[in-house]
Amino acid sequence: MSSGNVTLDRFRFQRMLEQLQRLEGRGTELVTVYVPPNKRIHEVMTDLRNEYGTAVNIKSKTTRKNVQDALTKVMERLKLFKDIPETGLAIFAGTIASDQLGVGDMQTFTVIPPEPISIYYYRCEHRFQLDPLFEILEHEDTYGILVMDSKDATFAILKGQRADIVKDISSGVAGKTRAGGQSSRRYERLREMYLNEYFQRVGGYMTDIFLNVPNLRGIIIGGPGPTKEDWLKGSYLRHELREKILTTVDTGYTGHEGVKEVVNRSRSFIEHVRYMQERKVVQEFLKHLGEDDGLATYGEEEVIQALKSVNVYTVLVSEEIKRWYVTLACKSCGYRETRIVDMDQWTQFEQGLSALKCLKCGEGPYEVAEKEDLIEVLVKMAQAAEAKLEVVSTQTEEGEMLYRSFGGIAAVTKYRVY
Ligand SMILES: [Zn+2]
Repeated sequence: MSSGNVTLDRFRFQRMLEQLQRLEGRGTELVTVYVPPNKRIHEVMTDLRNEYGTAVNIKSKTTRKNVQDALTKVMERLKLFKDIPETGLAIFAGTIASDQLGVGDMQTFTVIPPEPISIYYYRCEHRFQLDPLFEILEHEDTYGILVMDSKDATFAILKGQRADIVKDISSGVAGKTRAGGQSSRRYERLREMYLNEYFQRVGGYMTDIFLNVPNLRGIIIGGPGPTKEDWLKGSYLRHELREKILTTVDTGYTGHEGVKEVVNRSRSFIEHVRYMQERKVVQEFLKHLGEDDGLATYGEEEVIQALKSVNVYTVLVSEEIKRWYVTLACKSCGYRETRIVDMDQWTQFEQGLSALKCLKCGEGPYEVAEKEDLIEVLVKMAQAAEAKLEVVSTQTEEGEMLYRSFGGIAAVTKYRVY
């Protein structure tokens, strides 16, 4: 993952895409449909019915049937929606080639993208088409920028390396030195009034421009002189946005030059903020480990045990952990046991399953009763134990260390275990 403290939502989205990416059809028969938010359901239905008709021309009888079945599934899913969601919709359906017994398995997946998609298409291929969704994941985090003094304000959005100017406004407020002729008190009062009106306008634009920006991780406020601080002291900014303010930056200029200055001066700061939380949680773990106070534990078995004992403050999981938490059930006596299997090793594990003897009755065979992403299992366990869980990237030295040196799973516990 290229950026950010890994939020759980983002992590889940990425994992889901990775799972879909692995699936293959036997023939060219996996159906992908993307629908943008502005489309009407009945229009999409009409187009899909046409595709269904066109599919009659597919030569292979099996493929034809599979494609038509998949299209039927997509239409069924579509009917469950009254309107297309605000960010659009992606539906995937098809007969997945299975390694077992050669029996294909029809599966359907509905994805509501975390950010709006604008494409409309139907594809029928060997695999699902996921590029538009992976692109969303690659979007860099977004920051809002306001540069202001008492004369002008400029609003910009910083995405990755690029800052786009969204709006420039002028205050219409005259300078501090009054024009001749007016009484100085009256002049001061008028100036205050105009300034207040301008400050309110700035606050209004902040709401209009930044409130609904997806993935907005923070706002940076720049400008020459103390006007920005005066503005911040007033109650011109909605609290949801106020909470996102990361820092203020003094600049020599306002306007587009000012925005450039803010971007240049915030680079290292943004990098720092981005990974601060991840660094902090890993450092906390390392601190306890170094002090040998018994409050640091690592390894999947140890951490799961601590969670079951409701003895965890924070669980740290590397996003690189790709394992299944599998529950096996004995077909003879119903005995259950759990195993943790690398996702890469799954096929071999399934093949070796028949050779496993039941721990209780000595017979078997075992069958897979449940199979879940280990990280999702840890999330549930952490919730039950009222512990925090942090998914940690490998973008920092600390995150890399968590993964390489501690197997990617660690915890800070409440009391010592030994
Ligand atoms: Zn048994």
